Amino acid sequence: MDRKINIAIDGHSSCGKSTLAKALAKALGYIYIDSGAMYRAVALHLIQNNISVSDLQAVLAVLDDIDITIAYPDGQFTIYLNAEDVTQRIIQLDVSSIVSEVAAMSAVRSKLVQIQKSLGEKKGVVMDGRDIGTVVFPEAELKLFVTANLEVRTQRRYDELIAKRMPASIEEVENNLQHRDHIDSTRDDSPLRKAADALLIDNSYMDRKEQLYLAQKLATERLMLS
Ligand code: C5P
Repeated sequence: MDRKINIAIDGHSSCGKSTLAKALAKALGYIYIDSGAMYRAVALHLIQNNISVSDLQAVLAVLDDIDITIAYPDGQFTIYLNAEDVTQRIIQLDVSSIVSEVAAMSAVRSKLVQIQKSLGEKKGVVMDGRDIGTVVFPEAELKLFVTANLEVRTQRRYDELIAKRMPASIEEVENNLQHRDHIDSTRDDSPLRKAADALLIDNSYMDRKEQLYLAQKLATERLMLS
């Protein structure tokens, strides 16, 4: 089928939206974009340059030096910060611990939202994040808002970090998720919200296959209507 749609997947931290978005994009032959990775790359640049998130002027001064590109070597989403592959590095807790403060800055958001919107111009994109259905692709043909209870989300994130040999404690992970959800939901610019026309998926007790099946069915329905 030649017609393509855009799919927006938003939700709380570590709710499994990236896993779903990646699998859905693969099943449909669409492009997968992890918008959170872009905010993480900006946060990493600040860490690498010893810039405090509380120093707004210093952050603004380096924003133009940050070049973010995305590519798919071997079919995998890969993000480059000034030509360096940072895909694995940005998952670490030092980045997670400041990324929501970075993402609350309007100047950072407008730089990244502009890139994200342009990536969706040709359609055929599955993008996950916090404001995709509300701000980045308000016209997306399918919007999903994914959630799961905090315990399940903490365990998933913890397992991911341990599998990647990145040391963390359950407590640290849970505190970080709560901290990010709070900032993401209460910030002034583009707070995390379920778009009015988004469908809610609570995947606390769903496995990956069930979730993908449901999302694929919804995508096929929307494609027929588009
Ligand atoms: O998706 P992920 O958890 O990697 O995102 C990291 C952080 O980036 C989020 O906690 C949030 O603060 C920010 N973010 C955002 N808007 C997006 C995607 C991520 O503010 N569209």
